[in-house]
Amino acid sequence: MLKLKKNFGNKAIPHPLLQTYILLPRIVEKVRINPGNFADRKKFQEIEYTDQSYNDELERIHHRFSPLVKVCKEEGCALRIGSNHGSLSDRILSRYGDTPLGMVESAMEFIRICENYNYHEIILSMKSSNTRVMVQAYRLLVNKMHAEGMNYPLHLGVTEAGEGEDGRIKSAVGIGTLLEDGLGDTIRVSLTEEPEFEIPVAKELVKRYETRSGHDSINDIYKNPLYPYEYRKRESRQVMNIGGDNVSRVMVDLSLENEITRDTLNHLGYSYFEADDKWGIGDFACDYIFVNKKSVDFDIPGTLGIVQAYSVWIEEKKTNIYPFLDAKQYLDNPHLHPKLNFIYATLPELSADLLSQFKNDISAVLLIDTYNEHGMAEQRRLFMELMSENCQIPVIIGKAYSGLTPENLQLYSATDMGALLIDGLGDGVFLAAEGCGSLEQVNQTAFGILQASRTRISKTEYISCPSCGRTLFDLQETTALVRNRTSHLKGIKIGIMGCIVNGPGEMADADYGYVGTGVGKISLYRGQNVVQANLPMEEAVDALIDLMKEDGVWVEPEMVEAFF
Ligand code: SF4
Repeated sequence: MLKLKKNFGNKAIPHPLLQTYILLPRIVEKVRINPGNFADRKKFQEIEYTDQSYNDELERIHHRFSPLVKVCKEEGCALRIGSNHGSLSDRILSRYGDTPLGMVESAMEFIRICENYNYHEIILSMKSSNTRVMVQAYRLLVNKMHAEGMNYPLHLGVTEAGEGEDGRIKSAVGIGTLLEDGLGDTIRVSLTEEPEFEIPVAKELVKRYETRSGHDSINDIYKNPLYPYEYRKRESRQVMNIGGDNVSRVMVDLSLENEITRDTLNHLGYSYFEADDKWGIGDFACDYIFVNKKSVDFDIPGTLGIVQAYSVWIEEKKTNIYPFLDAKQYLDNPHLHPKLNFIYATLPELSADLLSQFKNDISAVLLIDTYNEHGMAEQRRLFMELMSENCQIPVIIGKAYSGLTPENLQLYSATDMGALLIDGLGDGVFLAAEGCGSLEQVNQTAFGILQASRTRISKTEYISCPSCGRTLFDLQETTALVRNRTSHLKGIKIGIMGCIVNGPGEMADADYGYVGTGVGKISLYRGQNVVQANLPMEEAVDALIDLMKEDGVWVEPEMVEAFF
């Protein structure tokens, strides 16, 4: 928020080069600087620094930055030091690499200068469009600040999160994970939509914490087996296609359906072709369906598994259906499926007997749930227990929601499950969502969470900027145009940026970039390099596709669906 000060200054400006920066604290309440480009330039060069030459650079930055610090202090103006993953300076990149540590050190260098002048009106941000990098950077920043006796507030954000469902889920995975950790003082949701659509999402993300303080207590942690600054997948044994090196699985709850037909599967990524008696399998084809006490009376696709209540399964013990048991049934019953059994448990049910049986059971998959209002923390505590006991049972993260709008389901579940997946916890997800939208919406939300936490890539990822005064085209329209032609490409990241000033830096993570360089002009990037400059806009999408064809990553849309 930009608030104009009443005492619009007419004081002399001490340094002509810093004219803009020095003027701002006299007329606004808060200024944001990006340490990646405040005093450094970014030329995508690798430069070798000795300790001496690095310290000389820090001296130079001190000289450039200190006039701003002094005037901020004098005017009572706050300062946001905002590191951005996409625009780290060549100097930082050469020393720390393109890493969360680089983002943190980039800010710390500037904070130390502020403290040198006894100036503390600081807020910090560590934004990235990569949710893992963003979460790790904020956590590391807090760690480094504690080590140096600092405790500045944090402004949270996922940059260029995109639009619609993808943008909301990605924002929730990044911002929500940190809010769950108790980190964050202000937040910004950056969607490629009209700005007024960002505020309700932000409000919804923080609203959940109004009543959180009274949640049921969770067992103390004596030894934390998690490492919060780096992605480390929890080791789990493979049980059929779950756990081990498999991608995270999606299980869909069909227990509330009146009946289960081929049409039901049409909403879950499968399409039945009657004439050929074949199933088409799309990118969002779920892996398991939980039918509870119901039956399925038609041949299902070979890639799909049916999970049925134990009390029904035990009647016929069908080998192509897998039982679902609670902890007591599991401990009491010797008659299990020889290959795969789903055992439902919450943290309070995780007894020593259960753990001991899990350790040796090569057919067991744990489906966890929680009734705690701070459910993520309780489920994370359960994972810690498994890790401390060296129990490698694969785990499906389950969570029940009811009566939410589809949009709130996206935000809540992406926060609750994303916060676990982003730390390498979990081998799949099970969203039991009653009255929260259609089956299709719930299934797509599950896949969206896996994509945003980078545990299963099933669609093209768009890193598009939120647009601003510099934007050189209608960003929403252009994103839709690019999306229409490329959304079938699995696992490719495309940056769509409104301007050449910040665009290339902001899309650090993208494989290809579509960047506005003038009115009606687009430049195409492969990674960080321009490959075609100033193309007429009407030719740019075709040229982008030609570029992908040249790189051998293009697939014709009609080739995408697989048949079984
Ligand atoms: S147009 Fe440029 S400056 Fe504006 S939001 Fe997009 S990338 Fe950032």
